[in-house]
Amino acid sequence: MASDATRILMFHRILGDASAVFDLPSCYRMRGTALTVPEFLRVVEDAGPVLRLEAVECALAAGERLPHGSVLTFDDGYREHLDVVAPLLAARGVSATFYVATGLHGEASDVAVVDAWYWLLDHAAGRVARVPLPGGGEHRGRVDTYECKTAWVEGEPKARLLAATPAQQAAMVAALADSVGCALPADLAARLYLRPSEWAALVGLGMRVGAHSVSHPRLTQVDDETLRAEVEGSVSAVRQLGGQVAFAYPDGAYDERVVREVSRAAVSSSATCEPGMVGRGDDLLRLSRVFVSTPRAGP
Ligand SMILES: [Zn+2]
Repeated sequence: MASDATRILMFHRILGDASAVFDLPSCYRMRGTALTVPEFLRVVEDAGPVLRLEAVECALAAGERLPHGSVLTFDDGYREHLDVVAPLLAARGVSATFYVATGLHGEASDVAVVDAWYWLLDHAAGRVARVPLPGGGEHRGRVDTYECKTAWVEGEPKARLLAATPAQQAAMVAALADSVGCALPADLAARLYLRPSEWAALVGLGMRVGAHSVSHPRLTQVDDETLRAEVEGSVSAVRQLGGQVAFAYPDGAYDERVVREVSRAAVSSSATCEPGMVGRGDDLLRLSRVFVSTPRAGP
């Protein structure tokens, strides 16, 4: 059945809801980016027909009405996407698209700055943290109450972290680690993310792997040369798995320059984090998505 719109659901982590330190929810739960398996399966059951992303790409390319149903997409190539999610979906005979940042994997030590930030907050020994803010000053605050941890997870220091240069981000992460008395494990990348050799296993389970840049920067903030390397590098890595490559903008950050570069890399579609359905006539390189957040927020 054709309809006017398809929902592209956007998921991140599928984790248990076990408490982190100080009996607080993990940063991912607080941020709304983690569902438990039962929560996830409930969303899938309520989603209507589960469609492949290709169905949306074909309908838009042909100028046709969009099929009725939902597309499942997962960002950031987390380990549980292969260990937990893909087998559950395969057993139900449905598919999803998993966007991977091709440089964040078990063979390298690089971890997305937000994952490092969250890991430290979820494993803090000390109850007070302080970090230098880019441009001067510092942010100091407790990390052991729900309200205070929220500030670190979605308040000013987090906003400043995301807007900072890589060197400033490294300084902020190092100061956070120091002040809460814990260090990032050397193998954190391997614990968090799938290795490139494992992407083929997703494909083997009937899933699609998409590109999500190499190192997950905000592409609107990098220079032209870096932009090209981030887009081309990730697209060519994913292309080796076979088939057309779908892209998703890291942190949903895109502008005309970024869209032009993604178009140049000949991807089949590119997903944003703009909330909404995808309808007939929409731009294949600016697909809206519906963010699926942790059902219950709050303590
Ligand atoms: Zn991402």
